[in-house]
Amino acid sequence: MAKVDVAVIGAGAAGLTAAALLAKEGRKVSVIEASRWLGGRGMAVPDEGFKLSLGGHLLEDSGSGITKVFDYVGKKLEHGNVSSDMPVWDDERQRWGSIRDRYSGDKSELKKVIRALAETPYEELDLWDDRPLREWMRQHTSDQGVIDLWEFLSVLECMTDDWYDHSASDNLYVRKMHYAEARMAGYSFWPKQGWDGLFQDLHDAVVEHGGEVLLGTPAETVIIEDGVVKGVMLGRDKVLPNEFLEGEVLEADCVISTLPVWSVLRVVPESALPDWYAGQIRFLAQDHLRISWIGLYLATREEVHALDPREISTWLHAPSSRLSGFCFNQSAMDPSTAPEGVNLMVAGGIIPGARARDLPYLQRMFERFEDDLKTMYPGLRQSYWRRRHLVHDPSFGVIQKPALVGKFRPHWRAPNVEGLYFASETFRSRGIGVDRAARAGLTVVEDYLGRRLDGGFGWRY
Ligand SMILES: Cc1cc2nc3c(=O)[nH]c(=O)nc-3n(C[C@H](O)[C@H](O)[C@H](O)COP(=O)(O)OP(=O)(O)OC[C@H]3O[C@@H](n4cnc5c(N)ncnc54)[C@H](O)[C@@H]3O)c2cc1C
Repeated sequence: MAKVDVAVIGAGAAGLTAAALLAKEGRKVSVIEASRWLGGRGMAVPDEGFKLSLGGHLLEDSGSGITKVFDYVGKKLEHGNVSSDMPVWDDERQRWGSIRDRYSGDKSELKKVIRALAETPYEELDLWDDRPLREWMRQHTSDQGVIDLWEFLSVLECMTDDWYDHSASDNLYVRKMHYAEARMAGYSFWPKQGWDGLFQDLHDAVVEHGGEVLLGTPAETVIIEDGVVKGVMLGRDKVLPNEFLEGEVLEADCVISTLPVWSVLRVVPESALPDWYAGQIRFLAQDHLRISWIGLYLATREEVHALDPREISTWLHAPSSRLSGFCFNQSAMDPSTAPEGVNLMVAGGIIPGARARDLPYLQRMFERFEDDLKTMYPGLRQSYWRRRHLVHDPSFGVIQKPALVGKFRPHWRAPNVEGLYFASETFRSRGIGVDRAARAGLTVVEDYLGRRLDGGFGWRY
C-alpha cells in the first residue's frame, strides 16, 4: 500500500470533511471506514421501501459551516425545507401550540439580550465553559419569559433538563451564530440532496481531488513509535474469535481519528497517551454523560402532523412516559424517503443515559412512548409499519453541561504524539451534530496545515 500524507479514520461528517479539505489542499489522503455505508452516526439506510435517517434529522447550519465546506471543495449543499417555527405540546391543555405563544417574554428585553450576545465575541464566551446559561442571561435581563425561551431551546438542542445543566458557552455559541446568520434563534433544514446524497457528495469531493475512501475497512490500531505516528494497521474479519491479526499497514505521517470518545480507545493505544488525557476521554465516555433516546419510525397512509407538516414538534413532558422529545414528518421534508403517498414519522423520547442498558425499563418506555405519540398525534393510531431504535451506542453526543464542554474536553491534538489528531464533536469543539462535526474536521485540518483556509467559514474552535 502506498504511503499517504494523512490517514483519516471514519467516513462520517468529520472524516469526510477533513479528507475533502486536505485533498483539495493537495495532500495525499485515505479515509478508512469500518462500515459499508458512508455517514457514520448521520447515515441514511434503505429499509423496506423507506430511507431511514439513522442520525440525521435536520441540519443546523445557518450558512458558515458545512455549507461553506461544500463550496470550498466544489460541491453545493442546498438547503431544502426549513423548520422555522416549532409546535410545542401543551401538557395541561393536551393540545399543540406555537412556541411563539408559549413564551411571554418582553420583546424589547429579548432584543436587548440578542444585542448583548451579538456584541460579545465568541472568544469571550469561552470564559463561560463552567457556568449555566441562566447566569449569563441574568447579566442582561431579569425577564423570566426571555430566559425561559432560551432555556427551552437548550432542552431541545442539548437535551439538558434543568436550568443549572444548560451550558452557557455551548448554547451561546449556537444562538449567536443563528441570530447573526439567519436572524432567528434556531435555524435547521433538510439537506436537499438527502442525507445519503450529502455524504456521497463529500465522498466524491475526496475522490475528485485525488483521495480515496476505503469502505468496509476497520482500523485495527494506530501505529505509534517513539511518540511519532507511523500509520494505521487495517483490520479484516477474524477467522478465530481471538485471532491475532498480521494486518496490512497503511503508512502515514499523520492520522486524524474521528472516532467519538466512546470508541476511540479501541483503536488509539491508551498506553501512547498521557494518563490524564486518556482519563479525560474515559470520563466523557461514561453512560450517564451520553445523550440517549428511544426512537420510533412510524408509517401511515394519512398525513399526520402537529401544526404544519414541515416543522419539528417538541414537548417537555409526554403524557404517559413523561419523557421530553421530538417528532417530525420526514416524508414531508423529503417525499423520496418513503413509498409514494406514505408518511414517515420520526420521533425520539430522551432517556437518562444511565438507564440505557436496563432492558425492562426500555421495553416499558417503548410501550408508553408509542402510546404517547398516539395521544399527541391521533392519526398515528392508523400506523401500519414501525421500527424501534435505541440511541445509545453510539449516542447522539456527549451532554453539554457546564464543565463538560469547551476547555474541559480533550484537545484535538494529542499532547505527546506527533501527527495524531482527534476531529470529533465529542472532543474539544462546540455543540453537537453534523455541522459541528464538519467544523471539528475543519479545525483539525487548519491546525495540521498551520494556516486558516480562506473559505469564508464562520467559527471553528
Ligand atoms: C439518532 C441520532 C440522531 C441525530 N440527529 C441529528 C440531527 O438531526 N442533526 C444533526 O446535525 N446531527 C444529528 N445527530 C448527530 C450527528 O449524527 C453526529 O453529530 C455526527 O454524525 C457525528 O459525525 P462524526 O463524523 O464526528 O462521527 P461519526 O459519525 O460517529 O463517525 C465516526 C465513523 O467512524 C467509523 N468507525 C468506527 N470504528 C471504526 C474503526 N475501527 N475503523 C474505521 N472506522 C470506524 C464509524 O462507522 C463512523 O462512520 C444525530 C445522532 C444520532 C445518533
